[in-house]
Amino acid sequence: MSKLWNRINDELKTRHESKTYNVIKVLESPQGEIIEVGGKRYINMCSNNYLGFANEAGAIAAAKDYVEKYGVGAGAVRSISGTQKCHIDFERKLAEFKGVEDVMLVQSGFQANTAFVPTIITADDAIISDELNHASIIDAVRLTKARKYVYKHADMDDLKVQIEKAKSEVEGIVLIITDGVFSMDGDIAPLDKIVELKEKYEDVYLAVDDAHGEGVFGSHGRGLVNHYGLEGKVEFEIGTLSKAFGIAGGFVGGKKEVVDYLKQKARPFLFSTGLDSAMCGAGIYIVGEMTRTDERVKKLWDNAKYLQEQLRARGLDTWKTVSPITPVIVGEEAKATMLTKALFDEGVLVSPIIFPTVARGLARIRLMPSAAHTKEVLDEAIAKIEKCAKELGII
Ligand code: PMP
Repeated sequence: MSKLWNRINDELKTRHESKTYNVIKVLESPQGEIIEVGGKRYINMCSNNYLGFANEAGAIAAAKDYVEKYGVGAGAVRSISGTQKCHIDFERKLAEFKGVEDVMLVQSGFQANTAFVPTIITADDAIISDELNHASIIDAVRLTKARKYVYKHADMDDLKVQIEKAKSEVEGIVLIITDGVFSMDGDIAPLDKIVELKEKYEDVYLAVDDAHGEGVFGSHGRGLVNHYGLEGKVEFEIGTLSKAFGIAGGFVGGKKEVVDYLKQKARPFLFSTGLDSAMCGAGIYIVGEMTRTDERVKKLWDNAKYLQEQLRARGLDTWKTVSPITPVIVGEEAKATMLTKALFDEGVLVSPIIFPTVARGLARIRLMPSAAHTKEVLDEAIAKIEKCAKELGII
């Protein structure tokens, strides 16, 4: 066998033997509080469909309407003949909602980071990244030739040290980049303190990837920058449409000239076909709904607080979360896998999170409540989590 096939087969074998092979579940139903896998009913505690839009009738109707109007595919990259009016309409709506001058839509949140970072940053620049930033930020940073610095998670003293180091070592600009909400712990970036610090220096800029903050924090779910009252002080906002917006797609927001520049130069925009019309139609409806009412955001928080209080009342450790992301710490890696399996057998779907995604000894399951959950279903999930955690000696 060749080196390549050996490499692939060895890796697969190791994963099977160490029980880390990910058997990807196939859903036979739309997203929602209850989903179907293998013909069976499961309580869904692991999707990012925060506001329940992924299967909302109005969003589906809007998607159908736009497919009728614009067809199913954009047909080309946006810079050639793939920009449809629905792209522009959606960008305008999103910019208004986010309180930025303009946004550039791309195909996913991952693409938004890879479109933004390497386009804005040159080899003369520095990027300073929080150590717990998302993989898409890490990969986007890798695509640049800039000097790279990492600061200890949310640690402003270390950020200051890294800024000063970067300022003394590069000729160009310094970009600080951080997740808004950290998806493993559910804690949030101290954007107010980061802004205060960066404003002491010239040519130090801030980009926030608010994937888990949009639809969750701020007025009507406008995101973390709005939550902190920092509109106009954070130069770049990166977003995804795949979580609270319930669809797919991503965007970069900021000043008009930034978006203009990105549309001339960003490779995922120039070399990858634009979002399909169904996403634009559903997206326009969803942003309209988010602007019209904050009922879904309130229900999300009500459910999240209820879930977290009930778990803590049963002796479970929800760690540092200040957001709906609900980690339940179990300690050893094997316990997280066993708890996930026991819950699956009980009809509850959760995600196990283990080393190297989180530190050894801090293995956990992660629960994602949403506005689509009812208290009855949450109670059912809580009771099953308590039962399985007791059986495994976690509580
Ligand atoms: N950024 C962050 C911080 C995320 O959590 C995610 C989703 N896991 C992404 C980007 C990627 O978003 P998408 O799924 O739209 O590619």
